[in-house]
Amino acid sequence: MQKQRSTRELRELDAAHHLHPFTDTTSLNQQGARVITKGEGIYLWDSEGNKIIDGMAGLWCVNIGYGRKDLSEVAKRQMDDLAYYNTFFKTTHPAVVELSHLLAEVAPAGFSHVFYTNSGSESVDTMIRMVRRYWEVKGQKQKKTLIGRWNGYHGSTIGGASLGGMAYMHQDGGDLPIPGIEHVQQPWWYGLGGDMTPEEFGLAAAKWLEDKILEIGPDKVAAFVGEPIQGAGGVIIPPSTYWPEVERICHKYDVLLVADEVICGFGRTGEWFGHQCFGFHPDIFTTAKGLSSGYLPIGAVFVGDKVAAMLAEGGDFNHGFTYSGHPVAAAVACANVRALRDEGIIERVKHETGPYMQQRWREVFSRFEHVGDVRGVGLIQAFTLVKNKATRELFPNTGEIGLICRDIFFRHDLIMRACGDHMVSAPPLVISKQEIDDMLALAAQCMEEFEAELKARNLV
Ligand SMILES: *Cc1c(COP(=O)(O)O)cnc(C)c1O
Repeated sequence: MQKQRSTRELRELDAAHHLHPFTDTTSLNQQGARVITKGEGIYLWDSEGNKIIDGMAGLWCVNIGYGRKDLSEVAKRQMDDLAYYNTFFKTTHPAVVELSHLLAEVAPAGFSHVFYTNSGSESVDTMIRMVRRYWEVKGQKQKKTLIGRWNGYHGSTIGGASLGGMAYMHQDGGDLPIPGIEHVQQPWWYGLGGDMTPEEFGLAAAKWLEDKILEIGPDKVAAFVGEPIQGAGGVIIPPSTYWPEVERICHKYDVLLVADEVICGFGRTGEWFGHQCFGFHPDIFTTAKGLSSGYLPIGAVFVGDKVAAMLAEGGDFNHGFTYSGHPVAAAVACANVRALRDEGIIERVKHETGPYMQQRWREVFSRFEHVGDVRGVGLIQAFTLVKNKATRELFPNTGEIGLICRDIFFRHDLIMRACGDHMVSAPPLVISKQEIDDMLALAAQCMEEFEAELKARNLV
């Protein structure tokens, strides 16, 4: 048996052999990584026995909460029966059939097919290939360009990072974006709306898409892709006028509309999918994260009937992954989605815990001097650290202040994330009202400390 290693030993071995994602290795190895060893509900424990509130549901994914033994039992049973088989060559298996049937049931009308991947990035790459294939089969092969948004996040593969609008990811020596990808500005009223009302600004932001389509030429544009709410970009919630107008523009120019639901999907907003929250109708939507609540890696691309019919007409679609529809991941996802539905977890986010969080979130954070744009829906929420609340002036060196704030939270065993200077939270959907109160009480203490530190360090 593996001997129990000390925290120090684990840190040293981690530093010696493990390259972390999205991490400055040198700086991490000076501090040493925190070792997480256990999870239950909304809580994590580290190797030193500290109990941590996970205000981020892992990476926006552990919707059902940690420690569900029913899910591990499903995994064990499926591994014992059939640990793996592929679905490439005229075979299928019960786990993937059950999951597909269930997903067609929870999806909105018009989505009776799914295509499986192992992650959000793979879902996005699959969608890119699918969109281009759709136009090819339709005899409009020149409709190839996909339009994403600045500050959007669509994963970290070459396709996903290209479509995403994180300039620092494009600049990392990878020659991104790849050809055939364009970007428009994000619908961020607080930062870009000037004197417009949010509703006016929503229409103006949609117009940027129309301008871009006309600039490229509608006969060359394949799809517009956006997260219903930009997650990693800092929980940017578009004004209510935005998505319906985007939909109208996509119809007008015969451009496919794609929602990246990797964060918003499976209950995060209180609806099953984020586009239902904003009242628009995508042709395709990509998912991962909440599909299995992170218990195993799996993603799914939901393909609208119009696109599915065209793919079928085209014969072979030469795309797939060894682990597409992996039986163990599929069985666990199935149990997870059933639990989200049958235990009323998503219903509760919509009618009870979501509204409660949003009300308390605003009460708790609005009173701080350097907090602006306190916002959220369902169980996804954020506020922005601002230099001057009255003028909506942001801090220089975006991200510097956010990290100071995030580190204070982390020291106090509360995990929230800094996306630039946006402080964001998306806890497991099973969080109770009492746990919301506990989390926000701790967060308020952290904010007192943060504002004191800003003053002490002469940053304001
Ligand atoms: C996390 C995320 C992805 C990428 O998912 P991975 O599983 O990390 O590849 C894609 N799109 C959105 C909206 C995401 O939040």
